[in-house]
Amino acid sequence: MPNNNITWHDTKVDSATRLNLLGHKPVTVWLTGLSASGKSTIAFELEKLLLHAGHNAYVLDGDNIRHGLCQDLGFSEKDRHENIRRIAEVAKLMNNAGLIVISAFISPYIKDRESARSIIGAGNFVETFLDTPIQICENRDPKGLYRKARAGELSNFTGISAPYESPTNPELRLETGQMTADQSVKIILDYLFSQKFILPK
Ligand code: ADP
Repeated sequence: MPNNNITWHDTKVDSATRLNLLGHKPVTVWLTGLSASGKSTIAFELEKLLLHAGHNAYVLDGDNIRHGLCQDLGFSEKDRHENIRRIAEVAKLMNNAGLIVISAFISPYIKDRESARSIIGAGNFVETFLDTPIQICENRDPKGLYRKARAGELSNFTGISAPYESPTNPELRLETGQMTADQSVKIILDYLFSQKFILPK
């Protein structure tokens, strides 16, 4: 419930000053795709490269978040909505703190990703679709989850017993089945430079 007695306090540093001081504009790179499409792999590599280049970046990772902030949530449609809402609010706070956020969540519903875009701010949101056929994800299966889902040991599993709604107009689309993880990371970095989210240091 919104509380009418609570007022939003704005920062005293405008976005242009922030860009010059930090060398980057706070942005959220929102990775979305099936399990095993490569979200965590790409997110942590991108984070590493950004940090080594002097840009403060942080990965919000699906599994890690479910150990803490969202440990009370499951995988029903309602819980997935709430999961994404909380993550988007956290990403927004981290962006306000000046961080580049890389989020790695399946986030299967268009409605939830659009709501994340609106919470974070359309100008700070880079929806990045890891467009990987389910057969490739299933062959990779690094955590054995597809095997368990096929055996009926996991319910509500995206791509098998729960839907994945592909983005229709993402800022970036990466066919991770046809390129290496490093190539995907490079495409994201090039995009961040070209859109002036990052200034060369
Ligand atoms: P997700 O976070 O989407 O569930 P992960 O990053 O945990 O995916 O797992 C993807 C797996 O696929 C990893 O074991 C990774 O090494 C492997 N992989 C193989 N090729 C690629 C690629 N081109 N891009 C990303 N990951 C890849």
